[in-house]
Amino acid sequence: MTSPFDQGLALVRATADLLALDRRHPGQRLVERLAIPDKVVSFRASLQRDDGSVSVLLCHRVQHCDTLGPYKGGIRLHPSVDLDEVKALALAMTLKTALVEIPFGGAKGGIAVDPASLSRAELERLVRKYTSRLVNDIGPNSDIPAPDMGTGAREMAWIYDEYRKYNPVARAVVTGKPVGIGGSLGRTEATGRGVVCALLAAARRRGLSGYTVAIQGFGNVGAHAALDLAARGIRVVAVGDVAGAVHDPRGLDIPALVRHRDSTGAVAGFPGAEAIADPLTAPCDVLLPCALGGVITAANAEAIRASLVVEGANGPTTAEADAVLERRGVTVVPDILANAGGVVVSYFEWVQNREGFYWEEDEVNARMVRKLDKAFVQVAGMAEARGLSLRRAAYCLALERISQGMVARGAQ
Ligand code: NAD
Repeated sequence: MTSPFDQGLALVRATADLLALDRRHPGQRLVERLAIPDKVVSFRASLQRDDGSVSVLLCHRVQHCDTLGPYKGGIRLHPSVDLDEVKALALAMTLKTALVEIPFGGAKGGIAVDPASLSRAELERLVRKYTSRLVNDIGPNSDIPAPDMGTGAREMAWIYDEYRKYNPVARAVVTGKPVGIGGSLGRTEATGRGVVCALLAAARRRGLSGYTVAIQGFGNVGAHAALDLAARGIRVVAVGDVAGAVHDPRGLDIPALVRHRDSTGAVAGFPGAEAIADPLTAPCDVLLPCALGGVITAANAEAIRASLVVEGANGPTTAEADAVLERRGVTVVPDILANAGGVVVSYFEWVQNREGFYWEEDEVNARMVRKLDKAFVQVAGMAEARGLSLRRAAYCLALERISQGMVARGAQ
């Protein structure tokens, strides 16, 4: 099986052919410029554990492309983090920021560690060490991290505080901060809300109504998407996390499920719901993969019952599975569109930090919805005009914008 970065690049190459980039910009080597990230920083962090022992951890920050603006991308803490995955996620950020027309490039960071295995103090030491090693690489005008799997507002606050020791005015160095220290209202919920925004647009386009939803992942993205759906009266019938999955064909009580997760640490054992093996293949009309990458594969793509898949996670569908879903007539809203709400509101946070003027939450949400709806209309329009999948169309729009930027700027 090809690696996540190679899969992403293969799609970029195929899209470049579709756009005839080589013919239109001879000698510019636009795809080759995307095939090698601008800068890769990999380093060891020796973490002092509370008991005095030392753990040796591998850390990465990949700055993929800054043609359209400073590097932007989250920091992931997960045991499966490796350099290839971080590169793939950074490439996806380059495409995502271009697609939703925000003035950033693409980056991603990660540490191969299970955050649940660390105490709060150990985690803080690790995040601060990671930040101090990158203090000359990140910055409000150069590279702006944000939350991803295993990180949230608390970790962003530590990054901000560590960076501030070296650079006095620095709120905009990181987004997804707690609201009290410069975070934007609505940022925590933004990715999940954006997923719902994409779901509603895609369901309208497919003529779906009265549909049911299944969700894999009940963290930041999955839980906020579920809460938004529940508030709209849309039935969420299956939810799963790393430890198990629950199902109720009448619709799960999502606010109660969030309380259950908060008190027990998992969705399993939610009173009144039956345990199921896998939310990905649960009976539903719409599937939201909101956990890891590479979960929809050639092995399970035939078993997916939904007619619409909205990718809350980054890279949940392998190339082989994508082909199966397309053949089966399943609509897939690609990650670079479906989960872009987070980076859009991160952009708004960066703008607010720089202006020193803070917006009301309804203004943040309304502006995000406008941006995502506009991107969806553009992607759907391109898909229809050229007979492409939504993923191909999204890649076309993003790559065209990046290419124009590269050609305008020169060899950089
Ligand atoms: P999170 O750490 O808050 O939650 C992750 C969830 O996935 C948890 O419920 C966890 O139990 C579950 N999970 C982990 N491994 C699993 C497995 N093997 N099977 C089933 N469930 C599993 O992470 P998050 O911030 O919600 O991110 C989820 C996905 O969304 C990631 O792919 C991330 O890159 C993407 N994403 C996040 C943001 C953001 O703003 N947080 C933005 C864009 C994309």
